[in-house]
Amino acid sequence: MSERDSDAVGDLLVRHGYMPAASEADAGIIIVNTCSVRGKAEDKAVGKLGVLTDEKKTFPDRIVGAAGCMVQRMKQDIFRVVPGLDFAVGTHSLSRLPSVIALVVGGQRPVLDVSENDEELDELCGHLDVGVSAFVNILLGCERGCSYCVVPLVRGREHSRSADAVLAEVRNVVEKGGREVTLLGQSVMSYGRTNPVWQDEYVSPMGFTEPLARLLEAVNAIEGVKRIRFTSGHPSGVTSELVRAMAELPAVCEHLHLPLQSGADRILKIMRRGYTPDGYRNAVEMLRSGKSGMALTTDVIVGYPSEKEDEFEMTRRFMEEIGFDNSFIFKYSPRPGTSAFQLKDDVPADEKMRRNKVLLELQDKMGLAINSRTIGEDVEVLVEGTSLRNKLMWAGRTRTNKIVIFRPDEKIKIGDVVNIRINRVMAQTLYGDLI
Ligand code: SAH
Ligand code: SF4
Repeated sequence: MSERDSDAVGDLLVRHGYMPAASEADAGIIIVNTCSVRGKAEDKAVGKLGVLTDEKKTFPDRIVGAAGCMVQRMKQDIFRVVPGLDFAVGTHSLSRLPSVIALVVGGQRPVLDVSENDEELDELCGHLDVGVSAFVNILLGCERGCSYCVVPLVRGREHSRSADAVLAEVRNVVEKGGREVTLLGQSVMSYGRTNPVWQDEYVSPMGFTEPLARLLEAVNAIEGVKRIRFTSGHPSGVTSELVRAMAELPAVCEHLHLPLQSGADRILKIMRRGYTPDGYRNAVEMLRSGKSGMALTTDVIVGYPSEKEDEFEMTRRFMEEIGFDNSFIFKYSPRPGTSAFQLKDDVPADEKMRRNKVLLELQDKMGLAINSRTIGEDVEVLVEGTSLRNKLMWAGRTRTNKIVIFRPDEKIKIGDVVNIRINRVMAQTLYGDLI
């Protein structure tokens, strides 16, 4: 979501006459867009901002600003944590960046904008760098209130964008060369549940009544959209209508990111996640009974306050039972302002580290086993360009969101959909040859 914000801000600034710099050293203005979800993310942002402000000795005209979640959380304090910062804007003030920068250029500093209203959302639907794949916000904020999570504090109340606005943005992305769109929301299946998004008289051609299923159907109908993804999922949003939409709409990919957090009933309850392991299992069964070949990825937190060894073990076994294609394992990080912050962070750091490592090793094993089944098969790949690791090779993604590395060929270009025969796999990467 922050990546999406950064791109929208880039587009906004270009519309106000600024130009992207060729490199950091060339930049007259540098904005660090920050994340608050874990302490480590904030530490990194503070470190980077410290280096950038120190370098003002070498680049005296440089303007350095911070944006996003950490600013929204710290407010005025950010200027104490990063002395030398010229401005800071929160998550609700990004559209006012041009006027904030104008104040700084005019000599006023530091400037802070963390007000929570009057955001011009229309200003933030542009895309500077579309590439093959683009993020499109559909649901802003979050009201789930998971005990450990800072997002509701920094991103505010849930608000769904109108279907018309989303569809217009998708059309714009396609015009700029985008072939894949990922619809974004913290709890994306809540789309259209807190405020109306469809006109009353709208009739879904396939008879969908739920806002997200209707949106998937309408995006699928836009010419040029080859792939649709949406993230993040929540088990309570896995309805039979959504499963049908996924199964019957050809552009919707066979992949869902469905954060689990824990496989232990008690921990899920005190995290206030709103489902039990059984509920999660049922959601997975429904998804798998719909679209065939569904890949599932997840997020897990280890070392939540009071998590016992046997509860961690339940998580490990549950992950093994579901068989995730990939997972992101996080060590619990206490976030000020959340309800879990009151609890004692009582799982020692080395134990969190051990649990983290156990799950990473399990994930590697599962990923490798699942990917091995594709050896000898032809998979559909959306070509993204040069591989990050090996400039001689090209990379793309499967519909199940796996990276595929292959030899370039003069007949194919970025944005093409090609078939690759897989001949070798790793836990997170497939290798093959163009058919
Ligand atoms: N809205 C998404 C998650 C957004 S945050 C969802 O509910 O699925 C992304 C991931 O960061 C979460 O899924 C969680 O696993 C992790 N996370 C969030 N807060 C955390 C914390 N305080 N400590 C460790 N991990 C955390
Ligand atoms: Fe945070 Fe829970 Fe909202 Fe996800 S659903 S952003 S974890 S509060």
